[in-house]
Amino acid sequence: MRILIALFFLFFTTSSFAVIFDGNFIQGSFILGKTDPGSEVFIDKKKIRVTTDGYFVFGLGRDRKNDITITINEKKIIKKVFKREYEIQRIDGLEEKKVTPPEEVYERIKRENKWIGEARAIDSDLTFFKNKFAIPVENAIITGVYGSQRILNGKPKWPHYGLDFAADEGTKIKAMLDGTVTLAESDLFYTGGTLIFDHGHGVSTLYMHMEKLLVKKGQKVKQGDIIGTVGSTGRATGAHLDVRLNWFDIRLDPKTVLDIN
Ligand SMILES: [Zn+2]
Repeated sequence: MRILIALFFLFFTTSSFAVIFDGNFIQGSFILGKTDPGSEVFIDKKKIRVTTDGYFVFGLGRDRKNDITITINEKKIIKKVFKREYEIQRIDGLEEKKVTPPEEVYERIKRENKWIGEARAIDSDLTFFKNKFAIPVENAIITGVYGSQRILNGKPKWPHYGLDFAADEGTKIKAMLDGTVTLAESDLFYTGGTLIFDHGHGVSTLYMHMEKLLVKKGQKVKQGDIIGTVGSTGRATGAHLDVRLNWFDIRLDPKTVLDIN
């Protein structure tokens, strides 16, 4: 009798199964899912949080080539991930020590990368990621996009994972989404004045090269709050804001959540 009940339950749940995805299955994309409350969700082999009202989130890496498997209550959905083409961006005239850092700063860089990694690894039950993101600086020109292969002073480097908004030094920066500050550092080697926010379920945003930071670690911030000002701190060629979007350690395209073309 017990087996019969178990079988019936399994059949019933899989047959009444429903899911909606908001986002495109292309490299760099942020994807919001909604399913039945109380569902168990896996992305590939990773079990992820589901809100009490059935929302979950995940992202697709810049170079992801494989299909993605979303398993909801043991039912598998396999989606193809479409490829993108990325720009090649050459920047010359950078201070040589910032392109190839001298050995004496290796420890510093390692330590700072560890802090950033720890902030990105946070898996909180905040649910702000469900809401719509807002533009961080008004009337700014986009001067750098996600995914570009960077060639600095002639040397191929890591791809650029952010979205750059050129703006005057001192321009106010607004929080793109409600969240909690998980890192607030005024002078990181590469990224200068840097803020990281947690928005829940592994979703984080970063703001880099800032002149002033107007919030502190642990502070809760509302969308649209002024969090600091545009600067050119760290490795930057001029005043601009570089924003980033992550799902845990996977770097996503901020453009997939912002209303810009
Ligand atoms: Zn940038």
